[in-house]
Amino acid sequence: MTASGVSGDGGVSSEEAASGAVARALLSSRLSSKTRIGAAIGPLTSYRVGGCASALVVVDNRDELAELCGVLKNAQGGADTPVAVIGRGSNLLVSDEGFAGVAVMLGGSFGETSIAGTTVVAGGAAKLPVVARASVNAGLTGFEWAVGVPGSVGGAVRMNAGGHGAEMKDSLVAVKLVDLRKGDLLSRSNEDLAFGYRTSSVSATELVLEARFELSPGPVADGRAMLADIVSWRRTNQPGGQNAGSVFTNPDGDSAGRLIESVGAKGLRIGTAEVSQKHANFIQADENGRAADILSLMKEIQRRALESHGIELVFETHLLGFGDHVAGTGEADNR
Ligand SMILES: Cc1cc2nc3c(=O)[nH]c(=O)nc-3n(C[C@H](O)[C@H](O)[C@H](O)COP(=O)(O)OP(=O)(O)OC[C@H]3O[C@@H](n4cnc5c(N)ncnc54)[C@H](O)[C@@H]3O)c2cc1C
Repeated sequence: MTASGVSGDGGVSSEEAASGAVARALLSSRLSSKTRIGAAIGPLTSYRVGGCASALVVVDNRDELAELCGVLKNAQGGADTPVAVIGRGSNLLVSDEGFAGVAVMLGGSFGETSIAGTTVVAGGAAKLPVVARASVNAGLTGFEWAVGVPGSVGGAVRMNAGGHGAEMKDSLVAVKLVDLRKGDLLSRSNEDLAFGYRTSSVSATELVLEARFELSPGPVADGRAMLADIVSWRRTNQPGGQNAGSVFTNPDGDSAGRLIESVGAKGLRIGTAEVSQKHANFIQADENGRAADILSLMKEIQRRALESHGIELVFETHLLGFGDHVAGTGEADNR
């Protein structure tokens, strides 16, 4: 694997050396069967481009999570090893060089959802469309919007995902999360999550394990009709294929898609990446595409919007493995 951060003399970077030591520690821990060294994480994203992580660990329950935190805390190099959480990868661009660190995914019991009365408790790995449909079938309303968002509950909490006039913030009461560096199980209320427009207080080293929502009673038939409307609206207005949804957040009082069209970037292609003809705020990747082309296209759009309108478009997509020089990656936070 080539990973970002290779030292200037062509040797191994400090992150790679630390990650290698932690990967070996993981292989000698109880997580050996859950650890893949040099795992291809790019294909786990909806762009389906990008390289490998030094190690990928899938944790299925709280015991495995405790073991992982123990390794990160105690193994040689653990404190210097970047960590990253991957949900359904539907808002993530992984660099072609990969990620010199430990990537963590939730599976198993973290994918479960339970409903009692108007309270929905969903695991961090639960799929948003599944939770949306389950809530409607239980006679609840307030989470239908999420049926068209192909992410996990944990990823949606970090992103404060939203659509169709609603967002996570509206129905979320509290989450349970763990800081992978410290291992302590924490609760954070809606207020403490400090939700903003596609932002929250969840940091790059924190893992959302579970979210509790409070919804309202509503007729099942109305809920099902709303789900069908949303699904059909998405099919009509958004492209399928390899993309990560909206690339940029909407600037105040405007739409990023409109702005991108206005600078003549609809349909613009750089190498293996193209601005969608159906929705200008989506970038489509070719099969066997390159993350570098997607990033170049994102930067070219930013350049044109700034030059023509004086507007700095902000990445909604999170970037992984590109180094600190790319604005908006949040990569420094992975340490
Ligand atoms: C076709 C399409 C349509 C979309 N439509 C919408 C939309 O309408 N509205 C919208 O808001 N988004 C939309 N998205 C973007 C995306 O689905 C959401 O942002 C979603 O919430 C991301 O969840 P994820 O599990 O895929 O996160 P990922 O892409 O895997 O990760 C995104 C960020 O969340 C972090 N993360 C992931 N899981 C966890 C966890 N358990 N704990 C802590 N951090 C975590 C990652 O480290 C990363 O920083 C769309 C994407 C696609 C492909």
